[in-house]
Amino acid sequence: MDPGLFSSCSTSYLVLKRDQITNIRYRSVPLRCHSWSCPVCAKDKAEKYKVRMRPLFARENLHMYTFTYFHSKPEEEVWCEYQSAWNRLRTAIVKRFGTVHYCRVLESHKESNYPHLHVIMDKLVPPTWLNKELLSAGFGYQCDVKQVRDDQAGRYISKYLTKVWTNEKSAQIRRRLRLRIISFSAGVCTRLPGPSGWHLVGIESSMEGAIDKIKIDATWSEAIEGGETCTKEYSEYYETVFTYKEARNGT
Ligand SMILES: [Zn+2]
Repeated sequence: MDPGLFSSCSTSYLVLKRDQITNIRYRSVPLRCHSWSCPVCAKDKAEKYKVRMRPLFARENLHMYTFTYFHSKPEEEVWCEYQSAWNRLRTAIVKRFGTVHYCRVLESHKESNYPHLHVIMDKLVPPTWLNKELLSAGFGYQCDVKQVRDDQAGRYISKYLTKVWTNEKSAQIRRRLRLRIISFSAGVCTRLPGPSGWHLVGIESSMEGAIDKIKIDATWSEAIEGGETCTKEYSEYYETVFTYKEARNGT
C-alpha cells in the first residue's frame, strides 16, 4: 500500500489486551502501512527477513550475484519480464548444477529506469556458463559475483531491502505492477511466530490516547482485583502488565 495514500502508518495506535492466568498484558502498538516504500516499515520488514532467512544464511558456499538487464527494450517491458528472466535462469542452473537455495531482491538503477537483481545463492555458478545463460534467459551481459559469509549475507539483504528507491519512475512502475521486492526458494525462510491470545480493545489516534485507554482499564483491574501494574515505555510501544495478587483458576 502506498504510504501516501494510507498516512496512518504511525498516526493510529492499536490497543491490545491479553488475559492470562496470572496477569493481564496491555500493549499499544502503532498501526503500520507495511509498505516497502515507507522507510519505517521497510526497515522493520527488512529486519524480520534478516531473521527469517537464517536457514539460507546457515548454508555453505553462499555467493552473491548482481544481474542486470539490457536497456534496449522499453522500460516497462523489462520490469514486466524481470521475473520470467529469473525463472528461466534459475531453471537452467538447477538443470545443469542441481538444487539451489536462494533469495533474490529486486532493485532499480539510480541513473536509469531499469531494474537489476541481487541474488544470494548457495552455489558458485561458473562465469563462462553463466554469461551465456544470462543472455538467453533475458538478462544483460553484466554480472557481478562474490563469495559472502553468513553474517554478510544478512546485512546485504537488509541493506538492499531498505534502500530508498530514489528513481521515482521505477518506484511508480513497481507499485503499479505490484512487483515483489523479495522472493526465495522453498525452505529458506521461516515464519515468525504470530501473536497469540491478543485481542483488540480499541484504535486511538495518538499514542497518548492509547496509553490513557490502557491506564483506565489497568487501574480498574487494580481496584477490582487487587494486584499491581508494571509499565514499560519505548519510543513507539507501550506495555502495561497487571499482575493478579493470586493466580486465577481456569482463565
Ligand atoms: Zn509504513
